[in-house]
Amino acid sequence: MSTVAELIKSVPKSELHSHLDGSMRASTLIELAREQGVELPSYDVAGLNECVFKDQYSSLSEYLLGFGYTCAVLGDFEAIERTAFEMATDAILDGVRYMEVRFSPQLLVSSSAECVTAFRAVNAGLMQAATTFNQSRDVSCGAKIPFEYGIICCAMRNFFRGMGVYFDTLLDVLSATKKRDIINIASMEAVRSALTARDNFGVPVVAFDLAGEEDGYPAGHHYSAYDEAHANFMRTTVHAGEAYGPESIYEAVTKCHAERIGHGTSIFDSGRIIDPLITDKEAYVDALANYVATMRITVEVCPTSNMQTIPDLKGNMDNHPVRKMLDYGMSVAICTDNTLVSHTSLSNELTLTAEACHLEKEQLKRLVLAGFKGAFYHGSYAQKRAFVKRAADEIDEIFNS
Ligand SMILES: [Zn+2]
Repeated sequence: MSTVAELIKSVPKSELHSHLDGSMRASTLIELAREQGVELPSYDVAGLNECVFKDQYSSLSEYLLGFGYTCAVLGDFEAIERTAFEMATDAILDGVRYMEVRFSPQLLVSSSAECVTAFRAVNAGLMQAATTFNQSRDVSCGAKIPFEYGIICCAMRNFFRGMGVYFDTLLDVLSATKKRDIINIASMEAVRSALTARDNFGVPVVAFDLAGEEDGYPAGHHYSAYDEAHANFMRTTVHAGEAYGPESIYEAVTKCHAERIGHGTSIFDSGRIIDPLITDKEAYVDALANYVATMRITVEVCPTSNMQTIPDLKGNMDNHPVRKMLDYGMSVAICTDNTLVSHTSLSNELTLTAEACHLEKEQLKRLVLAGFKGAFYHGSYAQKRAFVKRAADEIDEIFNS
């Protein structure tokens, strides 16, 4: 058949790491900013791409700039619902048939009760996209299996004044409390709002995540929130090994019960180990990588995002550890992270990986399927197995045609 890019585009795909506030349409951001009176540096898509959503970023702060604008317009539940709908619709057109959308409700709204409403709004948007597609099953959208989804609740590793009304209020009310304890309270409130949305309103919040500033704010500080998630059978993932070394991944899997890792890019980076008690650094990263592989902890790899935010990769996929992850036998799911901020799609990310790693057809097939196997699926185990089987059968059929 076809080129690798065409083959990838035509198969059903699973997107496990996708941020609501980083994946809205630029045109929607402009429209919502006009409606809400939010100031943007430009009110046309080309202008925004020139000064905010670039192809290359010179620093992490430049990369993060766009989130300030998207979060500013997402404080409105209708805007949240619309963005979720459009994200899923765009993904469906790219052949995505399972998607987990993550966001930090505390960045967008002012109270825990409103966080629950935000989960419901995301669910309403995703459900509308799923229903629209699944009823028509438009063959021009590629893959034939139905579209399903889940939602992931993100807590923030760190926050400060100006990051939203919720955080400002918490910092005011608890001004006499130690920052570490305030962070702990916020992540506990995040997980509890996710559980309320799931248990009282039937929203498929499938997992709890930790995002934001990694250096100086260890995942272990949030262990109580992860315990709460674990105790209530909510699945867990942690952004780790993106802006900090392998010890961050170690902490995520040993202290936060992480069943998946967001990025994990520094997993082999023994030179970034800080703890002086770790004397054999090579043995440490080897043991960690083998543990992640053995425990089938899926690593959510987002190639373009990594190249834009991790200076050591020098914007070159040849420097990315994804090939080594696959050689270790790890479960790797390729993801987009932020389609708006990184100007990408899941097909694009998979193509980039397939080409950089010189994947054989069978390896590529396994890589696509790993996205489905690693899903924190909302239904029963039997239903997940049936869904993964349908995806596997269709992937097989397309690869063999
Ligand atoms: Zn992310």
